[in-house]
Amino acid sequence: MITIHDTTMFPPSLFAPDGATGTGQEHAGPAWDLSGEYPSVTSPDYTADMDRLRGLITQLDAMSKPIAEAVPRAAGLDPAKDRAVVDACQAFAGRLVEAFTLQGNLAVYANCSSSVDGSDDAAKTARGVLQTLGAGIGAAHAAFKLVMALCPDAFFEAFLSSETTAPFRFSLTQERKLKARFLPLDVEKTLSTMSPDGLSAWGSMYNNITGTVRCQVKKPDGATDTLGLAAAASMLKKPDRALREAAWRGINAAMAEHRESFASILNSISGWRYAEAGLRSHTEKVHFLDKALHQSRIGLATLNALMDALRASRELGRRALRAQARHYGVERLGPWDILAPAPARGGAGPGIAFKDGLEVVRRAYAAVDPSMGDFVSDMAKKRRIEGRVLDRKRPGAYCTEFPASRNPFVFTTYQGALSELSTLAHELGHAYHCEVMRDIPLVEADYPMTLAETASTFGEAALGDLLAKDAADPGTVFDLAWADAQDAATFLVNIPARFEFERRFYEKRPSGPVSAEGLCALTREAWEEWYGDALSDYDDYYWASKLHFHMPGVSFYNFPYSFGYLFSLGVYAKKDELGPRFHTAYVGLLRDTGRMEAEDLAAKHLGVDITKSAFWEGAIDMVRAKVERFEGLASS
Ligand SMILES: [Zn+2]
Repeated sequence: MITIHDTTMFPPSLFAPDGATGTGQEHAGPAWDLSGEYPSVTSPDYTADMDRLRGLITQLDAMSKPIAEAVPRAAGLDPAKDRAVVDACQAFAGRLVEAFTLQGNLAVYANCSSSVDGSDDAAKTARGVLQTLGAGIGAAHAAFKLVMALCPDAFFEAFLSSETTAPFRFSLTQERKLKARFLPLDVEKTLSTMSPDGLSAWGSMYNNITGTVRCQVKKPDGATDTLGLAAAASMLKKPDRALREAAWRGINAAMAEHRESFASILNSISGWRYAEAGLRSHTEKVHFLDKALHQSRIGLATLNALMDALRASRELGRRALRAQARHYGVERLGPWDILAPAPARGGAGPGIAFKDGLEVVRRAYAAVDPSMGDFVSDMAKKRRIEGRVLDRKRPGAYCTEFPASRNPFVFTTYQGALSELSTLAHELGHAYHCEVMRDIPLVEADYPMTLAETASTFGEAALGDLLAKDAADPGTVFDLAWADAQDAATFLVNIPARFEFERRFYEKRPSGPVSAEGLCALTREAWEEWYGDALSDYDDYYWASKLHFHMPGVSFYNFPYSFGYLFSLGVYAKKDELGPRFHTAYVGLLRDTGRMEAEDLAAKHLGVDITKSAFWEGAIDMVRAKVERFEGLASS
């Protein structure tokens, strides 16, 4: 099962976190030990670092003055004549890394603390303060960004010539690609000044409505529960089919009630983006997909190759849904079934104690390379895994890294269920990714969402392989195959349908706002195209209930999921092909994820061309084998 998790350093969750499915406290995981990072948010160490960060921001402000003065003539800067500006930029960059490292370190600690105890007010306060300080770094950094984007190549090379600044090459070169789209400094400032109560406000409004909306869930026993959206959404993952349908109907009624507000939000966010793209199109036309492609570090040819391969194999995702339907004893699944767990088999298994589960993950990792197995043991020995069941703990799982020590930590709640074991293998994959990048400068370690799930999905695949070979219990084999089938339907059908909806919406938007009815119709069209007859009905209000369409910071926050899933399978496929040479190639690939475009990365380390559908079709062949195995189980 591919766990799409939420974390501080990785993107937010695609689905609501897993509900607790385990068998109890006796299997619970260990406590992590963060004391090597800070003693507590109220400790003198933490407070001293907070003060040091404030000092750094004041310095950055002062240091940005001469850089801001150079902005109007940025395009003509000369490294010889403007040596003082080169020096100012180099000094600024060094201090900037210090500030980001410290801000990140404090924020990760505060976040870890409040994850374990949601009522920790000191941690919450620290998070709020750090958000403001983070915005302060952003503001101080604006002039530097502009100069770096707009300056001539010779000036840029002079800036990169020192040891501290050399690692900036990749990330700033990415920014420089957009130089023809920059606006004059005062316009850039105006846009960012207006945005909190403009663009961003629409996202807050979405969160406010969905955070307070009440869903009436008419349960199969006749009683009606009034639930918040998150609680109702978590029922979509329960084994009771009638309960799932009731929850889905309750959610949709609530979405329909607020449809005018949600339609305003989507139209305003897209309208703002169109207006901004219009301003930025002074030299070359900005397309609505450009920003998402840039953030994903892929080109349009790669996206097209991926979507073509997905379109050609959507029947495979539908087959997975049909096989799942047979298991629920129905002709077709409903839209309330797409997150359904395997049907209950009458009594859960005994559950897997944490130390036994960890040993299974260790063996799975060691089967790839002994050093990977050692890494898993080390994470446990150094107490970098949090797995307890605690009252005030937040749900979900994530991996995070302290930017100062570069130590990764895994957060999860472990109660012995198989899905939780997969989550552990997943998060340890993220941690392994951090570990192999330990010595890489932070500015070269920031990978895009398309590549972020490579190591985690790989870890799950390794676990799945080991369990499929080892599992004597047919129930475990079936649960694994069910999860594989669900992944196939999610990544081959659901995610592409989201993309197709958003694409159609953006194509229509320039002719005026699209009504709520129009948005329902567009969703239906997209679902019809991808799901076909595999479902008994479509999810007309998916455009309203799915957070991802309403996020101001990112558009087309969908295709990176299918990209990541298939890319990871492509990497995993190389394991057998490369044999003993695989591990070195794998580590090399992970180390370059923050300093290469995806196309170059894949060519260099895997020898494949991801701009061609053939690569994606090869990965889909692996999904086909999984779906066929599930079909075999489903019919037996
Ligand atoms: Zn992940």
